Amino acid sequence: MGIGGRESYLEPAKELKVYGEFDVIVVGGGVAGWSAAVAAGRAGANALIIERFPFFGGTATASLMANIVGYRNQKPPDGIQTTKGIGEEIILELLKTGGAEKSRNAYESAKRSDKKGDLSYNFAFDTERFKHVALKMALDAGVKILFHTWFSDAIMDGGAVAGIVFENKSGRQAAYAKTVIDASGDGDVALRAGVPYWQTKADEAPRLNDCLMYKIAGFSPDTKAPGCLIGNTMVVWGPSPGAHNAADADELTREEIDARLAVYGDLEEKIRAHPDLAGACVVDTGALIGVRQTRFFEGVYALTGDDVLEGRAFEDSIAMAANPVIHYYGYRRFLEHEGYDIPYRCMVPKKVDGLLVAGRCMSSDQIAYESWRAMAHIFAIGEAAGIAAAICAEDGLAPRGIDVKKLQRRLIEAGAEIGQSRKK
Ligand SMILES: Cc1cc2nc3c(=O)[nH]c(=O)nc-3n(C[C@H](O)[C@H](O)[C@H](O)COP(=O)(O)OP(=O)(O)OC[C@H]3O[C@@H](n4cnc5c(N)ncnc54)[C@H](O)[C@@H]3O)c2cc1C
Repeated sequence: MGIGGRESYLEPAKELKVYGEFDVIVVGGGVAGWSAAVAAGRAGANALIIERFPFFGGTATASLMANIVGYRNQKPPDGIQTTKGIGEEIILELLKTGGAEKSRNAYESAKRSDKKGDLSYNFAFDTERFKHVALKMALDAGVKILFHTWFSDAIMDGGAVAGIVFENKSGRQAAYAKTVIDASGDGDVALRAGVPYWQTKADEAPRLNDCLMYKIAGFSPDTKAPGCLIGNTMVVWGPSPGAHNAADADELTREEIDARLAVYGDLEEKIRAHPDLAGACVVDTGALIGVRQTRFFEGVYALTGDDVLEGRAFEDSIAMAANPVIHYYGYRRFLEHEGYDIPYRCMVPKKVDGLLVAGRCMSSDQIAYESWRAMAHIFAIGEAAGIAAAICAEDGLAPRGIDVKKLQRRLIEAGAEIGQSRKK
């Protein structure tokens, strides 16, 4: 009960200015949303992307998650580069400017190259350079960008999402779209649109914990301590405050407070464990604690752990993935095949039309998620969502009605890997 016994407030109805009407609106400019917007723009769609931060990347940049993994299986068989398309393009752009480096690890596939079509399993990258490259690619694709903007509600037309309501310095406004792509990570649009979802409880194992990443400098460049080393700075995995629900504002705040108070103690412990970090100081912390998982929304299909572990192919594949299933069978569970497919149906909500759900809140069980959550795969999922939404506009169809073969052709033409290189 609130102060003075008030329990609720009836917000008066208010007429909102319409900001615009678009073929595609993408909510959230993380790895999924950014790729979706670039792909939709390149496919000729009139696309708007809204993002609460003034840059793209989401977890990758705002939370300093400076290590893209998943370009191929980590151990033999690692014959296929499972993510191509936009996810490959951005790494190649970053490598050109010294903004990415092959990660320092002992895995077989890390010894591969930094060449197109033969990328290593993972790359460390400079989060500032990422912001720069991602912004240029979105502008080049003709995407309309609205930063400093919070999604607040879904506009419904019967059982379909018809647009969004958002807030920013200019006030509260509405925008309409033929298709909305929810790439908010937590599924804020899908939630407001009434798509059923599930959530692993905070104390239920296996669940991937959130973690505050931070950047250090001033240490020996030859350090063997784990982290994402680029030039003379390194991003390290910091305090992980444990059981919280990051989709709840109070709990998220509590989690941020606990993690931020623990940062300097965490660095002292790291220096004790790795004396070659002596002299290190904290130069940055993520603007947002790294949130690994919150809600998963029910799609026409939910990817399963068996699909991942058995390397299943799907008729409606829109991406391939090969990342290990972490935390489930011991710390890492490497795949025993080159990769598995991600079906288009995972992005299409079971009930609501006019909406695609891309990125870490897509339809999946916990085990499968621990694999496809890798950023390489999330780029590919986002790219597929963007092209699918562009096709919806071209053909006047809802996401569940499009010709998936056409989507697959368009993805392959755009340079994506959807399983076509897999040995049959
Ligand atoms: C601690 C940690 C370690 C990880 N380690 C690795 C690793 O080593 N390698 C790897 O490849 N992957 C790793 N991952 C996983 C990977 O980073 C994520 O799966 C991926 O970045 C998710 O991308 P996304 O675009 O789906 O979501 P997000 O990155 O969460 O993007 C969502 C975007 O939506 C915006 N947004 C949210 N709500 C709103 C709103 N209401 N209005 C406007 N904007 C909104 C956010 O600001 C954000 O930009 C890690 C993740 C974490 C948290």
